[in-house]
Amino acid sequence: MQVDVLTLFPEWFDWYRDQRHVRNALAAGHELRTFNPRDHTVLSGRQVDDTPFGGGAGMVLRVDVMERALRGIYGEDPVDLRTHRRVVALTPGGRVLDDALVDELAAEPDGITLLCGRYEGFDERILEHFCTDAVSIGQYVLAGGELAAMVVADVVLRKLPGTLGHEDSAVEESFSAALEGDPEYPHYTRPAKHRGWAVPDVLLSGHHEQIRRWRRERSRERGDAGLRLDRADVAPPGPPDPSGER
Ligand code: SAM
Repeated sequence: MQVDVLTLFPEWFDWYRDQRHVRNALAAGHELRTFNPRDHTVLSGRQVDDTPFGGGAGMVLRVDVMERALRGIYGEDPVDLRTHRRVVALTPGGRVLDDALVDELAAEPDGITLLCGRYEGFDERILEHFCTDAVSIGQYVLAGGELAAMVVADVVLRKLPGTLGHEDSAVEESFSAALEGDPEYPHYTRPAKHRGWAVPDVLLSGHHEQIRRWRRERSRERGDAGLRLDRADVAPPGPPDPSGER
């Protein structure tokens, strides 16, 4: 799988590319490439944006610049590119990213292309003519599309074989088909008791079927009621554990 990102700030991805699961993905043959539209513009001063027609604050990414960038990278008209490749504009008003969309993107045979906006965002013709998807990572406004692209890259890459150390880790987790779309069940580790807070007995029982059923029930409950740590629901702190066990 090839994940391409068009960004005015490719250096943001240097740190991300060096994270272990991303290194695993790259070692397994997946690709994370970044391209700067400024490297493709013919406008003076490496210009990529301009003031909005009709007035208003901010700058808008130009359609001709994005066309040159996409043509330069893929060697074809971006109008044709989108007929065989998923080209995603990251934008706050887009389809809100969820696990179903991540599965769709992760199943793309050739790869995906993520366009990061900045300032006021994209000239609308970029979305209309070059993109297959407009995707939002939530209903709030980031300064730019880079963090959104990293979110999309991350959730897609960790679905792919070779990215996570344990191949099953992404199979049964929050919102997955294995949990019928519910959030994941609670996890516990040592110590079995801390400040009087005990791990549920069933998890210490060694009965795999009971554990499986308990986990499924907790997961369903969270799906129905949501997982909220409202102040009213937070248990008062127990006394310090006299054993000092950690
Ligand atoms: N003027 C735009 C609006 O009101 O919708 C906001 C532009 S925002 C400051 C600049 C860029 O950040 C956007 O073009 C987009 O690429 C990215 N961005 C901001 N919030 C986002 C979100 N919630 N999801 C995805 N991308 C986002």
